[in-house]
Amino acid sequence: MEIDDFRRHAHEMVDWMADYMADVGKFPVRAQTPPGAVRKTLADAPPAGGEAFTDIMADFERDVLPGVTHWQHPRFFAYFPANASPPSILAEMLTATLGAQCMLWQTSPAGTEMETLTTDWLRQMIGLPEGFHGVIQDSASSAILCALLTAREQATDWQANEVGLANCPPLTVYTSDQTHSATEKGAKIAGYGRAQVRLIESEPETFAMRPAALEAAIQADKAAGMRPTCLVANLGATGVGAMDDLDALGRIAKAHGLFAHVDAAWAGSALILEEHRHLLNGIEHFDSFVFNPHKWLMTNFDCSAHYVRDPEALVRTLAINPAFLLSPEGDQVIDYRDWSAPLGRRFRALKLWFVIRSYGVDGLKAIIRNHIDWAARLEQRIAATGDFALMAPRRLSLLNFRYQPNGVQDNDLDALNERLLNAVNDDGFTYLTQNRINGRYAIRFQIGQTRAAEAHVLAAWDRVTTIARGLAR
Ligand SMILES: *Cc1c(COP(=O)(O)O)cnc(C)c1O
Repeated sequence: MEIDDFRRHAHEMVDWMADYMADVGKFPVRAQTPPGAVRKTLADAPPAGGEAFTDIMADFERDVLPGVTHWQHPRFFAYFPANASPPSILAEMLTATLGAQCMLWQTSPAGTEMETLTTDWLRQMIGLPEGFHGVIQDSASSAILCALLTAREQATDWQANEVGLANCPPLTVYTSDQTHSATEKGAKIAGYGRAQVRLIESEPETFAMRPAALEAAIQADKAAGMRPTCLVANLGATGVGAMDDLDALGRIAKAHGLFAHVDAAWAGSALILEEHRHLLNGIEHFDSFVFNPHKWLMTNFDCSAHYVRDPEALVRTLAINPAFLLSPEGDQVIDYRDWSAPLGRRFRALKLWFVIRSYGVDGLKAIIRNHIDWAARLEQRIAATGDFALMAPRRLSLLNFRYQPNGVQDNDLDALNERLLNAVNDDGFTYLTQNRINGRYAIRFQIGQTRAAEAHVLAAWDRVTTIARGLAR
């Protein structure tokens, strides 16, 4: 494609993008295509010759778009959000145009220096103390993996990297039964083995990890000849948003010499609001922390802010030094390739810089505060109905409920709610996620979408109640 053609198509594309943002609410939220439907419309073999941009774009609209689930839809209340926003999209256009690979300082000094700067802006915004050093990862899963690897190396005096884990006592990991699957996955990748991951019991009402159970598990593992190595605490776990008591858990971890990490992938963004800062009480006992601006801070996927207290330990865990990657600048600069599992890195700091400057911290606060207020009002509305029940306390903008009309036996409620969720998502007006809480089926509703307004929340709730009451009839 010549530059003149690029210019013309890019102008058309920007119009398409703006129209999409304005109209995304007209699509069904979850794609309504059956499995294989998109694939069936596309060519079996790649074209030998180049095709016209307008033809490719027409096929995209006709064949591909129906198979897209609209994460930017204002009535997307499933999973957690993956916000996009206009300033972030514009910055991504620049990032794509520059096409810089920011593995080393010298492969794009601005990429590195802005990564240090923007992660420190975020650190200040969420009230994380000084002394935490930031790096942008592709995902919270990668940050958790980095924590597990650093913990493993510290526990083995850096020998696991050299000779493997064969001659070590089993290394154990502690997290709650509410934790995201990323911890177990990271533990498998890092060689701990799933059998060495302790899913510590959480409190039945608050879903916070029980500190006494953590202490007992560490003691038992020590007595059995294992080496307790890493704690992963939750600030806003995925199911019901469980918030662990960082102070109580961190003290136990430190008393036993564990590496301690906080997974705040979703909830970390809400820490920009002073009224939620108390959740960080006890952070001084922790070695690392992660949250995802790509979830709830108006920043396009992917962008995960990972903080470590001791960058030396992380670098010693991950550094590689083939001749062609050596940096003549030495200690004067940071080479972020040594702070993450992949070597290559995108220029992700640019979109953070655009987003934070464009909204301002106050603008971002107002958006998140609204989401939480709307969730609180929806919680009241659910509590006021006779036939729906909340299944867990609301955490920030996350709710869990289920439908339980009079006359339906308790053991039929799981099946009824599963039918309800499927009917809601097949309907396409809104999109919610299933959950299990203490073994019972629940429906999960989170508010965090860039374009959501309270009217979208209420309209989605009305549709859920209408569909539910239709099913019961
Ligand atoms: C989303 C989420 C993760 C995983 O995040 P990725 O960035 O997709 O790896 C981990 N923990 C919690 C609590 C999450 O909500």
